[in-house]
Amino acid sequence: MARDAAARDTETMDVETIDIVFPDLLGLLHGKTVPTQRREHPTHYAITVMVQGLDLGFLELEPYSTSVGFPDMEASIDVGSTRPWLQGRQRALAWTHFADGRPLPLDSRRQLATICQRWAALGYQPKAGYEMEFFLLSSREPLTKLPVPEHRVYGIGAGADPTGTIEAITAAAQLADLRVEGVNSEFTPSQVEVSLEYQDALTAADCALLFRELARQVAQQHGIDVTFMARPFADAVGNGMHVNLSLATPDGSNAFYAQDDAEGLSEVARWFVAGLLHHHEALAAFAAPTVNSYKRLTPGMLSGYWANWGWDNRLATIRIPGQRGPSTRVEHRMGDGSASPHLLTAALLAAGLHGVQERMALADPQIGDADSAPNTDRHAPTSLPDALAALQADQELCAFFEPDLIAVYTELKSRECERWAQAVTDWEQREYSRVY
Ligand code: GLU
Ligand code: MG
Repeated sequence: MARDAAARDTETMDVETIDIVFPDLLGLLHGKTVPTQRREHPTHYAITVMVQGLDLGFLELEPYSTSVGFPDMEASIDVGSTRPWLQGRQRALAWTHFADGRPLPLDSRRQLATICQRWAALGYQPKAGYEMEFFLLSSREPLTKLPVPEHRVYGIGAGADPTGTIEAITAAAQLADLRVEGVNSEFTPSQVEVSLEYQDALTAADCALLFRELARQVAQQHGIDVTFMARPFADAVGNGMHVNLSLATPDGSNAFYAQDDAEGLSEVARWFVAGLLHHHEALAAFAAPTVNSYKRLTPGMLSGYWANWGWDNRLATIRIPGQRGPSTRVEHRMGDGSASPHLLTAALLAAGLHGVQERMALADPQIGDADSAPNTDRHAPTSLPDALAALQADQELCAFFEPDLIAVYTELKSRECERWAQAVTDWEQREYSRVY
């Protein structure tokens, strides 16, 4: 009885808390839950060494290694980012600083904000909207797709998910103001796409980041799971995170639209696309950031392999959808579900900005099937080590970023590559142990 009473008390207790979170360079959230009245308190984090690889190892690079002795870091709440969250909580994103107030160069949100400010100096506000693909899983180990007996492409309801989890995810995302635009099942049973409305690029990237976590949490409450990893199954396509980009002018019009152009596309948009193509190889380091990403980023996967663009062509890396006027946009299709939305968007906006600064000429569009008849021989790197090398070789793109961010990111990702190189996979065991 006493236990019941205590449980009842806990349920009715009005404990107001806020999760103060920030993303690391891998696109994963960290943070603390604090009582709401302490939300403006500057120091919520005990140690600085928060940028860890998936191996949880410490960095070797100064001043982020153990040699600095884990001093405090500060997180100041980005008040405008506060939103309702699950279970009646609140959630807000934070800016991160060293204890002496200097901005932390590894802050991926600030990196995106900085590139948006450079666009603002030219009179443009970047806008972004993300298409989030993921699989519903009935089991994590072994990784198993949720059976969907009534599956059909662009299915809804039981045609997408017999467990009702998608509806719960959508409802929770709406509650959290993540601005769901549409939901549908993909070609493969259990794969789903949720598109998020376009809005200013930083808020949009925040929504994409939060959506991944929210979807997993809601699914787990429904007894299933999700994965956004790039290519979870050999017998199915991968999970894209396509980024739709446009630029708003101070009067609110869309700078990618040109009424007097035969195709309705402005010069700025063409330079922007040329910039994306100019940096195609290096962009993979952010768009396809895991070892597994390169099982998706191949021809035949609609995944942004070739350095090309096309008019409403899903086989080209950059698709210019047919809508014009306020909906004129550029869809970059290389990103996968393991990308940091902030770093990827920062990289795309940097590449586009470079194109505009240099008034880069745009090549001819890809016509028809890019995989059987590509109009270019330039393509994405075929492995993560090659993508990291392409990033390091592309000093023009790196110059838009904090040097420390590039150094730490490449160290984290190189470590990931080393672990992969050392791994003995179940495929190798199956293939060779029988016969050798
Ligand atoms: N699943 C594809 C990808 O990995 C995209 C399919 C689509 O166009 O929605 O990017
Ligand atoms: Mg899709």
